Amino acid sequence: MPSYTAPVEDMMFLFEKLRDNKNYNELEKYKEVTSDLVKDILEEAAKINQNLILPLAKVGDENPAVLENGVVRTPPGYKEAYKKYIQDGWTSLSCDPKYGGQGMPKTVSAFFDEMLSSASLSFKLYSELSIGAYNCINHHASDELKNKYLPKIVEGKWSGTMCLTEPVCGTDLGLLKTKAEKQNDGSYKISGQKIFITSGDHDLTENIIHLVIARETDSPAGTKGISLFLVPKFVVNEDGSIGPRNGISTGSIESKMGIKGSATCVLNFDEATGYMIGKKDKGLNAMFTMMNLERIVVGIQGLGVSEIAYQNSLAYAKERKQGKTNKTKSTNGADFIIEHADIRKSLLNMKSIIEGERALCFWLSQQTEVSLNHKDEKVRQMASDFVSLMTPVVKSLFTDLGMEITSDAMQIHGGYGYTKDQGIEQLYRDNRITPIYEGTNSVQAADLVFRKLFNKNGDIINKYIDLIRTETDLDNEKIKPFTKEFTYYLNILTKFSEWINEKTKTDKDDVSAAANDYLKTLGFVSVAYAWIKVLHVSFKDYNENKNFYDDKINTAKFYFDKVLPRAEQHYKSAISGSSNIMSFKFD
Ligand SMILES: Cc1cc2nc3c(=O)[nH]c(=O)nc-3n(C[C@H](O)[C@H](O)[C@H](O)COP(=O)(O)OP(=O)(O)OC[C@H]3O[C@@H](n4cnc5c(N)ncnc54)[C@H](O)[C@@H]3O)c2cc1C
Repeated sequence: MPSYTAPVEDMMFLFEKLRDNKNYNELEKYKEVTSDLVKDILEEAAKINQNLILPLAKVGDENPAVLENGVVRTPPGYKEAYKKYIQDGWTSLSCDPKYGGQGMPKTVSAFFDEMLSSASLSFKLYSELSIGAYNCINHHASDELKNKYLPKIVEGKWSGTMCLTEPVCGTDLGLLKTKAEKQNDGSYKISGQKIFITSGDHDLTENIIHLVIARETDSPAGTKGISLFLVPKFVVNEDGSIGPRNGISTGSIESKMGIKGSATCVLNFDEATGYMIGKKDKGLNAMFTMMNLERIVVGIQGLGVSEIAYQNSLAYAKERKQGKTNKTKSTNGADFIIEHADIRKSLLNMKSIIEGERALCFWLSQQTEVSLNHKDEKVRQMASDFVSLMTPVVKSLFTDLGMEITSDAMQIHGGYGYTKDQGIEQLYRDNRITPIYEGTNSVQAADLVFRKLFNKNGDIINKYIDLIRTETDLDNEKIKPFTKEFTYYLNILTKFSEWINEKTKTDKDDVSAAANDYLKTLGFVSVAYAWIKVLHVSFKDYNENKNFYDDKINTAKFYFDKVLPRAEQHYKSAISGSSNIMSFKFD
């Protein structure tokens, strides 16, 4: 079984030293969230993840969730762990105190999400969609629905799901067939089949609150006729107690490559009672609140799985002896593999990506809070634009690099990585879903180039480039070599963005073929931007903690020398266009 130590020191470094990232310090809301409080929370979070949840990863892989006599049973130990998990209040961390939440900022809940993803992705998924459902209900539902459902979701006694996918409708939600019929009392009868529903049924909570998209009988075809409904597994009585079973049954659960402890269900809705959330035919707008936040969390899943893969690779490389290095001191026997340049490079590749991603994610969490809570509407709008721009980047880059890192982790472990002994191959299998669900990574890339770069609020990408150019123009001799490199790649990003803008007008296939490359270039440059912020503190406060800051400076050096150049390779590949791709005959 892989071991795991939560990276609390790195998280606290970000929380304490990068608090003043753009406009975040102006928020009144979190003035009382002190370093001491956050440290206490992270230390407790580390304990539950390392001790209670980590062992469940292997258990869930070997004893997947099962459907028996119409009831879904989670793997052994999940029930007991979930009970402790909600008793300790982990589901309520970032929720509104009005509904029983602890009101912590997203910076803190993102750290917790990362730890939980490292410990067990399958276990995490049972509460993850609950928080998504909480956010969606909180933003879009009536006060009556909020008061009735949110306290129990926040407490973790009821969980949530997101029911979008159907047999013929995955990426293209306009094809959906599930029907909603209005009843005299204002409720709806929902009928249809949803597939691949994460935590669609299980035995951890008293009730499951499904958020279901469906079409009213008189609504138009396509995405313009989709409404959103809250459909509980058990109907809830007026006084909030649990009533009779609703018309929802579990058809089957999927047998999967990874995240086997997570129940992925086929759900049949047969005139199930539901309640509309938001306005008729505007269901996708409401659902996007859930999906956008969820996409960032999926990116964090990739980061969390990468972290545990790295920690175990490092430990293994320090204990495995094979071959002799060029400068070996050993007269007989072999050197530890961590002495080999190739292995060192692989480890530093992981470390520099992970720490850069964590710093970028911290910035994104701050901007999310600014977009929700800043008193100046213009500042809120600007932050919201940046969040919207970076959401597909974090989702796709972090999960794709999660595949690279878990694959490299297997490589470092050699045959022991491929076989089940060390649990490394499970990390690869578990992470493989992250580039697929919540919208495939290619669909994220298309969303980025066609809808996010230049939208109704103007050229968001140019505003972002201006922001990071200004913030990295630092007057410090030691940081200059880094900012010089950074400017070179920022200019490539600028040229690439202009190329996309032009091609959008002339050849959309060129843009589609370049979308993934563009996302990667923007992603690698954005991680470099986060590294510059880390470097700024590292040089400024160097004497406070020399070892820690030396480690940061040297890791950043690797990122700038060996990882950031990938931004240019993606650009060069993209601008060769798509004519050959589109004219190629596959038969
Ligand atoms: C384990 C698991 C858990 C899941 N959990 C949930 C859940 O809780 N709720 C839920 O609603 N769904 C869930 N899903 C469904 C998941 O979100 C979808 O599988 C995913 O969005 C892709 O849809 P699809 O499988 O139909 O693939 P398709 O949409 O058929 O896509 C197939 C391929 O075509 C590409 N493609 C599709 N459209 C375009 C386009 N316009 N341009 C370019 N390329 C395109 C895609 O990138 C992909 O490579 C889950 C799936 C799995 C496997």
